[in-house]
Amino acid sequence: MIGAAGVAAAALICLDPGHGTPPAIGRQLEPIGPGSRVMKIKDGGGAHGEAAVALAIANRTRAVLLARGYRVAMTRTGPTIHLRDGNGNIARAKFCNRRHAALMIRIHADGSAYRSLHGVSTLVPAWHSGWTDDVYAPSVRAGFALQKAVVSATGAPDRGIVKRSDLTGFNWADVPVTLVETGFLTNPTDWRLLHTASYQQRVALGLANGVRAFVRR
Ligand SMILES: [Zn+2]
Repeated sequence: MIGAAGVAAAALICLDPGHGTPPAIGRQLEPIGPGSRVMKIKDGGGAHGEAAVALAIANRTRAVLLARGYRVAMTRTGPTIHLRDGNGNIARAKFCNRRHAALMIRIHADGSAYRSLHGVSTLVPAWHSGWTDDVYAPSVRAGFALQKAVVSATGAPDRGIVKRSDLTGFNWADVPVTLVETGFLTNPTDWRLLHTASYQQRVALGLANGVRAFVRR
């Protein structure tokens, strides 16, 4: 975007480190999309240790993005989330909507009963008339850019792109939105990597590289 003074306005990237909702609030229900009667829990808590890992990666991503000239907003900067609108996934989406973010990146880590599962995947909204139709195409494009860049920066196995219709934080977003599963906390190798500063930094660089590939088009 070129402002009146001819200076390019820096894109705002909205980072949403997953979880960190106090359990009493997290167990509350909210509609999975505007006008929906399908209700879903606000925050199931995530994989063991996920909230802290997500925040550490988000903080590093924020630093890289700021150094590259982007503006950054974060839905939480501490262990627990404090937003208007009830601290659920609707509130997280509205936080980024209100700021007209160029991209909302939800940062998570996976968990599975199968401890051998490992690697990185990126979730994007499925197309849904009235909910995601306005953000579907750029979200998918951003998802591919982020997935490619994070896999490249980390060398992690590429588990690909997954379209999801059931994520409240996608269905309420009015800005392009993605969710990066940065590894499996239930896999011993991924767990160790996700707890090292050097790997967290590689994920952060990958996310920032993906942002660059997405925003410059
Ligand atoms: Zn999660």
